[in-house]
Amino acid sequence: MLQQTQVITVIDYFKRFIIRFPNLKTLAEANIDDVLSLWSGLGYYSRARNLHATANIIKDDFKGRFPRNLEALISLPGIGPSTAGAILSLSNIESRPILDGNVKRVLARFFGIHGHYSESDVNKRLWELSTLTTPKEDFANYTQAIMDLGATVCLPRNPDCKNCPCSIDCIAYQEGLSHILPTKKKSQKKKTISEYFLIIRFEDGSFILEKRNNEGVWGGLWSLPQVNIKEDPLKWCKSIVSNSLIDSKKLEVIRHSFSHYHLEMHPIEIYLRGKFISSNNQMKCFNKNNVHKLGLAAPIKIIINSL
Ligand code: SF4
Repeated sequence: MLQQTQVITVIDYFKRFIIRFPNLKTLAEANIDDVLSLWSGLGYYSRARNLHATANIIKDDFKGRFPRNLEALISLPGIGPSTAGAILSLSNIESRPILDGNVKRVLARFFGIHGHYSESDVNKRLWELSTLTTPKEDFANYTQAIMDLGATVCLPRNPDCKNCPCSIDCIAYQEGLSHILPTKKKSQKKKTISEYFLIIRFEDGSFILEKRNNEGVWGGLWSLPQVNIKEDPLKWCKSIVSNSLIDSKKLEVIRHSFSHYHLEMHPIEIYLRGKFISSNNQMKCFNKNNVHKLGLAAPIKIIINSL
């Protein structure tokens, strides 16, 4: 949960998650929709899908015991070299370097590394430095300490260099570069994508949701059917549901930003007679009472709650 997300955002999600899934077995046996529903609003949903898949692999292939070596760990979905290193080091199993966002920042400043992390030589150099600095003894404390230093002292915007235990040897501090390093990524203007979000409603109050593919944003979540803004939403609706139209109404536009683009969401309510007979598992009818058991992205929740 903490990958790409701050502790303050995660706390409530974590508490709810750990109560519902207190161990690997309950997580592995859960329906993916249950897992995603507890992740709803936290973003980066592949993390939830990977966690669920990993729990199943450990249950089936590792007799329910968490692997204790790097190779096995990085074979699991969602666990890369840095997470695997953190698991091994923090569990006091083996000395392994890590390179999460906080550690990258501390190392880039401490050793005065210029260039953005996305450049392969910069990334390679940071891995070398992390390997070099991780001790062979007392590695659990070291790993926790460098992560905490990044999270509480060597902050992205206002590093507290005056109170930092590393300031004497820190190149960025000594050369007055603490606010320049790490090198920022050249900002690229995000594009805006506009889409209709269809709230196809029936006389019994139910509405259609569609399960999204695992790839891409909101992967594996349930969502409102989405149609390009250049298309006719009523015509599109007619192509999938033959029930006759009662009325339609456009709702207020919602803007949602992803890391690489802005999404301009145009919700439109389409009232149809009768009820929906689904021909596949990807598109089903729900109502306001049972929809909250599903994994839903935050803006979709907002639209549904406003109905
Ligand atoms: S002295 Fe400043 S820049 Fe250097 S590690 Fe400490 S907080 Fe970060």
